[in-house]
Amino acid sequence: MDLPVAEWKSYLLQKWSLLPKSIQVTVSTAETLSDVFLHSSSLLQPEDEIFLKRLSQGYSVGKDSGAPLFYREEGNKTFQEKDYTVAAVLYSKGVSHSRPNTEDMSLCYANRSAALFHLGQYEMCLKDIIRAQTHGYPERLQPKIMLRKAECLMALGRLQEARQTISDLERNFTASPTLADFPSQSVQRNLHLLKMKAQDKENLTETFPVALAKTLEGVDLREENKQLSNASSSVGLCMDPLKGRYLVATREILPGEPLVKEDAFVSVLNPGELPPLHHSLESKWDTRVTNGDLYCHRCLKHTLATVPCDGCSYAKYCSQECLQQAWKLYHRIECPLGGLLLTLGVFCHIALRLTLLVGFQDVSKIRKLCDEFSNKDIPESSNWVKTLNSGLGEIEKNGKIVETPIPGCDVNGKYESNYQAVFNLLPHTENHSPEHKFLCALCVSALCRQLEAASFQPVTTGASSSQLKAAVAPELCPDMTVWGVVMLRHMLQLQCNAQAITTILHTGSKEGIVTGSRQVRLATGIFPVISLLNHSCSPNTSVSFVSTVATIRASQRIGKGQEILHCYGPHKSRIGVAERQQKLRSQYFFDCTCPACQTETRCMAARPRWEAFCCNSCRAPMQGDDVLSCGRRGCAESVRRDHLTSRLQDLRQQVGMAQKLLSDGKLEPAIQQLSWCQHDAGSFLSAEHAVLGEIEDGLAQACAALGDWQKSATHLQNSLRVVEARHGPSSVEMGHELFKLAQIFFNGFAVPEALSTIQKAEEVLSLHCGPWDDEIQELQKMKSCLLDLTPTPVGSSV
Ligand SMILES: [Zn+2]
Ligand SMILES: [Zn+2]
Ligand SMILES: [Zn+2]
Ligand SMILES: [Zn+2]
Repeated sequence: MDLPVAEWKSYLLQKWSLLPKSIQVTVSTAETLSDVFLHSSSLLQPEDEIFLKRLSQGYSVGKDSGAPLFYREEGNKTFQEKDYTVAAVLYSKGVSHSRPNTEDMSLCYANRSAALFHLGQYEMCLKDIIRAQTHGYPERLQPKIMLRKAECLMALGRLQEARQTISDLERNFTASPTLADFPSQSVQRNLHLLKMKAQDKENLTETFPVALAKTLEGVDLREENKQLSNASSSVGLCMDPLKGRYLVATREILPGEPLVKEDAFVSVLNPGELPPLHHSLESKWDTRVTNGDLYCHRCLKHTLATVPCDGCSYAKYCSQECLQQAWKLYHRIECPLGGLLLTLGVFCHIALRLTLLVGFQDVSKIRKLCDEFSNKDIPESSNWVKTLNSGLGEIEKNGKIVETPIPGCDVNGKYESNYQAVFNLLPHTENHSPEHKFLCALCVSALCRQLEAASFQPVTTGASSSQLKAAVAPELCPDMTVWGVVMLRHMLQLQCNAQAITTILHTGSKEGIVTGSRQVRLATGIFPVISLLNHSCSPNTSVSFVSTVATIRASQRIGKGQEILHCYGPHKSRIGVAERQQKLRSQYFFDCTCPACQTETRCMAARPRWEAFCCNSCRAPMQGDDVLSCGRRGCAESVRRDHLTSRLQDLRQQVGMAQKLLSDGKLEPAIQQLSWCQHDAGSFLSAEHAVLGEIEDGLAQACAALGDWQKSATHLQNSLRVVEARHGPSSVEMGHELFKLAQIFFNGFAVPEALSTIQKAEEVLSLHCGPWDDEIQELQKMKSCLLDLTPTPVGSSV
């Protein structure tokens, strides 16, 4: 999804392979990025663009007039089944295909308000009611949403307004003859009930708790860092000819201490894992729910009540403010290019958005400066770029450059999270293969041609909104090559510098007794300060996100002078050393020599415990490569590895079937199947094998669902041992597992066990996430609830 879709990628690679040798050599030996760009883009033919256009049209990104009714009906079906979350998303899809000020739009908003009401999201519900009314909600249906409005206001404790709404409704109802066809009895009955409820509420209580707003203020860096923006004063920036730039601890750092808190300089939401519906016969409209339906396309906030762009159906926002900001900053240009950007992939999209954010004027200034100061390409570590944000005039006045010791820093030696820093991230031009550079260059040049075309003709998305006309961007420069080269540079930089923005998705039964969680990728972004961190397969930090803001925390003690390290993806608890090394070499162009890689390379034969086989007769670990033999003296057991591998494969399949039973709510059969798997696993897998952990976890879930808390806790403790062996006692994975155990003890009213597990879970999770993390909040709620239950203070004993 970062790179172009497979069809376009293979099309271009084939094009490359068919080029005459001489042309391939010209592109391969081009010394600068501008030469790569110029040579490659001259090869982009009209038939290539036609093929690309056809691929882009596979995505539904425009407004489709038949879609609102379709989605509203689908939403109504789901609503009947009481799945209000999915219903809300389907209504949102209807909204995004509706034109403003139409009955379609108002009905979709009104129906969504009903779903939100059932989900208890009253504030959002009120907003949708107002939206329905401003987009022309039919007069005859007014009583319906007025009643809902009054109920919302009451639920929120805004009694004055609720009473006002009720009396407005009564007056309308008696005054307006157009309401006569509305089933008046039911409205009157509801009104009556509502008035009684309002009365009750008033008698019950006078004050209402104010909802606590989730703020970003949770993280405080120790002190502001004078050399490095967005970092705490415990962090220092260094430079070394071999390592390049890196960060060190300037004093002893304790586990959990926040070190960097940085907002993405740019980010693009990953549209989701689903392929476009090219050949679907069932329907041309997609009812599947993706990230794009659930998160704001600008700030990444989770919401069920998105507001769509007026011009397209794919860009959706959490609020009118985000919509307007996005439009002003980049979406007015991106809006008509939706299908193309999805086809070209997230990296190309980020490259475009970066240049839009910084403004074309500045981009071309950089390029010009670059040409003046160097007849080669944009240097990898140049000083002139420092002029970008403020110093430009200075340079022109003084006509000379001041040397700065570290690339990306300003004249005063300060490194900031700005475009100058982004521009200085290494593109590793010489390391990318010629065909990869060709591929990126053609993507960028196809995009440039579209932009060029857009700047000469009015946008033809069929929208009449005057706002859309602004999409004809006056600032688009006719000199597309300059823009193209800068975008190509960004696209190449992204391979090593893109940061995945993730969120924890809570999964589990609808009743939510014991929930699981998994990390999902939401977006891709660039964080100039975080990019300074080098990689380790067993890092001493961890990263968490709130909206587009990333926080790096120490996950262990870091001594003064030690390097601060972060994991680029291949973590030692997930991937074996050989595969890690291979990935780091091909994607990041370096050989990892972190302590984990060194020890694991030294004893290649010893596999980690979570992948180890054990002896069938004595349970000692098995050793060897193709043929495994028992490691215990005197035991003669031996077996071929491929035999065990195929047994493991069968077992995984069986476990998968059990998990399916579990998610279908067939608890007894699930337990039977899992117990059989457990028995089988015990005969050839080590006690800390990952699959054994999955089995125990499944058993714990099934027992919890049956209300057998004790058994559930025992199974989960076994699963916890596997997680600890694999990920370490203070890993975030351990935190999630402890959270589950705490839920089990809590639900089983095992108060002392629950309190001590809550404490452990909180300790581990707070090394990785801030106080506003969902799990930490939930733990605190459980704790205060338990402390209220117990007459004697137990808190001190845990
Ligand atoms: Zn937003
Ligand atoms: Zn749009
Ligand atoms: Zn490593
Ligand atoms: Zn043995």
